[in-house]
Amino acid sequence: MMYPKTPTKKKRKQHAPSILQEAGDHSCLLCALLKKEDARGIHQHHVFGGTANREKSEQWGMKAWLCLEHHEGRTGVHNNRKMDMFLKQRAQRAFEELYDHETFMREFGRNYL
Ligand SMILES: [Zn+2]
Ligand SMILES: [Zn+2]
Repeated sequence: MMYPKTPTKKKRKQHAPSILQEAGDHSCLLCALLKKEDARGIHQHHVFGGTANREKSEQWGMKAWLCLEHHEGRTGVHNNRKMDMFLKQRAQRAFEELYDHETFMREFGRNYL
């Protein structure tokens, strides 16, 4: 499904550091949360994908390093709905601790909790 293209008024640089991990922490967030062995993250995943939300994820720092298995494997967020939802909920909670629920809904348009 395509998102309607909205013209961008100004090109601002909107790359925020991740709000889900410490700067410089490149370990897999899901391995850490699930108390598995500390696996090295190899891809930085945008928690909310799709054309519009990928940019929002970038802008608000909704990014997490993931190991190959948790990114693209069978239990990875791109293949496993439960795992994807687990990460999205975690991200929404972190976001709402920093900002608030209204801002989350305005930016991402859906409640995952
Ligand atoms: Zn992992
Ligand atoms: Zn990804």
